[in-house]
Amino acid sequence: MLRRVLIAGRGEIALRVLRSCRELGVETVAAYSEADSDALHVQLADQAVCVGPARAAESYLNQDALLTAALGAGCDGVHPGYGFLSENADFADACVKAGLTFIGPSGECIRKAGSKSAARDIMRAAGVPVTPGSDGPVGSPEEALSAAERVGWPVLLKASAGGGGRGIRRCDGPESLPAAFAEAQAEARACFDSGEMYLEKLVQNPRHIEFQILADRQGNVIHLGDRDCSIQRRNQKLLEEAPARCLTPALRFRMGEAAVRAARAVGYEGAGTVEFLLDADGEHFYFMEMNTRIQVEHGVTELITGVDLVRQQLRVASGLPLGITQEDVRLEGCAIECRINAEDPARDFRPCPGKVEFLHFPGGPGVRVDSCLYNGCTLPPYYDSLAAKLLVHAPTRLEAVRRMRRCLEEFTLEGFPTNGELCYEILYHPVFLRGGCTTAFLDEHLGELLEFNRRLAEREEEG
Ligand code: ADP
Ligand code: ADP
Ligand code: MG
Repeated sequence: MLRRVLIAGRGEIALRVLRSCRELGVETVAAYSEADSDALHVQLADQAVCVGPARAAESYLNQDALLTAALGAGCDGVHPGYGFLSENADFADACVKAGLTFIGPSGECIRKAGSKSAARDIMRAAGVPVTPGSDGPVGSPEEALSAAERVGWPVLLKASAGGGGRGIRRCDGPESLPAAFAEAQAEARACFDSGEMYLEKLVQNPRHIEFQILADRQGNVIHLGDRDCSIQRRNQKLLEEAPARCLTPALRFRMGEAAVRAARAVGYEGAGTVEFLLDADGEHFYFMEMNTRIQVEHGVTELITGVDLVRQQLRVASGLPLGITQEDVRLEGCAIECRINAEDPARDFRPCPGKVEFLHFPGGPGVRVDSCLYNGCTLPPYYDSLAAKLLVHAPTRLEAVRRMRRCLEEFTLEGFPTNGELCYEILYHPVFLRGGCTTAFLDEHLGELLEFNRRLAEREEEG
């Protein structure tokens, strides 16, 4: 087993990784930026090393500083968390070259899955259905136009290196294509340092359904069921549940099989996610991308399967086989996650981190909170606005919904605005209760959800 692991990430996922390490008797070294010196995971780690200033480019993305920290602290492994360098093939290679185990798939595998445009070709060849779109990248608006004419409007222009919903623009016809192309490409260059674009036909009113994968070095690949992540704002997930209510056992079997085939096609190792779009007909599904890391919403899968995914990542990276087979995997009950972000939904979800003046987290049966916040801490403005993940597990979906409402009623955070109230409203919305949300749900109903909120606030003020 790995002996000492550098955690090359921050926030709740750093703490999450630390917790599994500790349970396995693996020592932890927190690599942190100057902005995170008071962070909870830094205080809890066995050792902590400052790797640079607040700016991510100089700290959490600084490969040399991270490798120096790992070697200096006597680590034998590096866990990249999510975001930052977690899907950076060069970093995975550099770790190995330095004699460190990268807790994730090989650089080669990350390279194959990481270019979303190239991954489409690999998946098509492996017999996994992909969204209709361009064959390979489109280098100019003219190339995009001819690809769009071929697949049919409307289309989505997407960044090959994309992630977190960035570098994506919808385009309804030839007139708006040049502007949409320029916008998406500029965002891609700014976020991912790569302007490579590809194009997909827009699937109308789809659901985002993804499968959790686990694979070991011995060639075993299994899936741990599915998550419905259709509730999104600006192509970014807000509320997730597992299992997806809209899948019949037969469809779950087919999609799970496709997900395993996708993972095999890139030589996968460790924990990963295969994302699909499920068509409005509830039958056709298309490969969208493979995320070669632990994902924000992994907790809902842990709750319904009882499998600790980070523990499995550490085991696989240590060369041990998966302790479970596909037949062992049981999906029990229903789990829901709300991502509580420091943001203002009424002002276009503008991030607004700050100091936590007062904090109370919910607890009790079937509740899990993953967060790095504590009373008096400050959420730095330099990084993601994720403040806490509230998760619940219950025997049925309705009980899980009620449990999450109860959690949000208990949850108190003073100091900056969050999307907590918005999540609460979603949990009462008839479309959500019916299990009918597509990826268009939040955009379509945002006004109505916020309006209700505003009236509630006014009533409270009136006493
Ligand atoms: P998805 O990429 O499907 O949205 P997650 O929601 O799990 O998956 O994203 C993981 C986290 O990493 C989010 O906080 C997201 O903003 C961030 N992220 C994803 N891809 C990148 C990237 N390439 N660069 C920086 N941050 C990213
Ligand atoms: P990222 O790497 O940023 O997570 P994805 O390719 O996973 O990007 O897409 C993010 C979201 O954008 C999806 O969850 C879905 O809501 C939407 N989306 C992506 N591709 C399509 C498509 N072809 N048709 C409709 N919606 C799409
Ligand atoms: Mg995605």
